[in-house]
Amino acid sequence: MEQEKRDIRSLTLEELTEYVVGLGEQKFRAKQIYQWLHLKQVTDFDRMTNLPKSLLRTLSEECVLVELKKEAMQASKQDGTRKYLFILPDGNRIESVLMRYKHGNSVCISSQAGCRMGCRFCASALGGLARGLTASEMLEQVYRIGRDTGERISNVVVMGTGEPLDNYENLVRFIRLLTDENGLHISQRNVTVSTCGLVPEMYRLADEAFSITLALSLHAPDQEKRRQLMPVAERYALSDVMMACRYYFEQTGRRVTFEYSLMKGFNDAPKDAKALSALLKRELRGVPCHVNLIPVNPVRERGYTQPDAADIAAFKNKLEKNGINVTIRREMGRDIDGACGQLRRRYTEQ
Ligand code: SAH
Repeated sequence: MEQEKRDIRSLTLEELTEYVVGLGEQKFRAKQIYQWLHLKQVTDFDRMTNLPKSLLRTLSEECVLVELKKEAMQASKQDGTRKYLFILPDGNRIESVLMRYKHGNSVCISSQAGCRMGCRFCASALGGLARGLTASEMLEQVYRIGRDTGERISNVVVMGTGEPLDNYENLVRFIRLLTDENGLHISQRNVTVSTCGLVPEMYRLADEAFSITLALSLHAPDQEKRRQLMPVAERYALSDVMMACRYYFEQTGRRVTFEYSLMKGFNDAPKDAKALSALLKRELRGVPCHVNLIPVNPVRERGYTQPDAADIAAFKNKLEKNGINVTIRREMGRDIDGACGQLRRRYTEQ
């Protein structure tokens, strides 16, 4: 049987060094290769012009350079947001988004092709999970968008399709490569990972001692309501999720972000704002946090709608009065295929 080729762009510099030295080459070759892979981002081994021919031959025989094919791109005329649809080497499709803010460019990447968490308001859950992405497939989304625009990417958010902590090993490898000083060297402080609340993996991530931001998808002020929206709440009680958030802060010193998607008539009443304030006070015990209110992105198959602007403002005010740090997420790219996962869905469900 033919041996599977190495996914060379998913290797850390240490692993690459071990591999190259094992081939009888000198150590410095690993660093040269690493730079070709992560700085110049070549798509072909022959472009690594400072390497000996024999080494190039071995690399092309034993390794692959994972490439994403750009199938579609939509650019917003309103705010410069760009949504990309990429095809993975095995034919699966993923979405990535470029958002241009005053403080810099941010790329939102997918961590899985599909998702198995089943949140009731989310488009990505509709088709189930195909598979988790490799580290190189996550990296390539950032690299490709950087090359496509010719602009610097300063922030990365893992908030696209998929549950990142359901693809833990690849996620951690991706973060190491993305923030490595020999590569793109994105600051860990500018990386955010969003989770629906897989408690054991939240503890593991806290123990990695990264300085990335953790965002917790809360969406409800109590366990009962959360269960109605998110099947993951059957597995982990809200109080345990909140305890894991506290632990995350204690280990990393990073303020946790809570995402709260506002759905008309479901979780947007003044009593919900009151319950949310009480929950954060009771469970966080002074740990600093930030609440990001997201008017729900209506997904055709789901039926949730956005609250009226006045109710959103009232919700925000109530939290503020209770001393909670809160923002309303500015909607970007409203004119390009609405909610997360919908561009992908349009292409895969025809
Ligand atoms: N699985 C991870 C990350 C992907 S989703 C998580 O659950 O956090 C990124 C964020 O978008 C999550 O907070 C998710 O709950 C939210 N989201 C998904 N569908 C949405 C929709 N239709 N409207 C508003 N927010 C949505």
